[in-house]
Amino acid sequence: MDWRDDAACIGELLEVFFDDNPKTMRASNKIAKQYCDSCRVREDCLNYALDNNVYVGIYGGLSNKQRRSIKKYSGNRLKPGGKVGNTYDFS
Ligand code: SF4
Repeated sequence: MDWRDDAACIGELLEVFFDDNPKTMRASNKIAKQYCDSCRVREDCLNYALDNNVYVGIYGGLSNKQRRSIKKYSGNRLKPGGKVGNTYDFS
């Protein structure tokens, strides 16, 4: 079984996760992050994006800019319960 099988966003509006239109992106990101807030595989999702240098869309509840910040300041993936500065905390 793959972590994606438990994703809260399965079958949902994927456009909101990958909206790059400056006029609608903020609202889309907000909607996408609401799915992530209740997702059981959020940590796996974020680490997948970090491990694979995915810098488009929302993964693990974070934007590409936020994920770049994690990479910049931690140099690697987020550990369970990990905290990177004040950027993110799964605990
Ligand atoms: S954390 Fe967000 S983007 Fe990742 S699988 Fe869950 S709902 Fe989808």
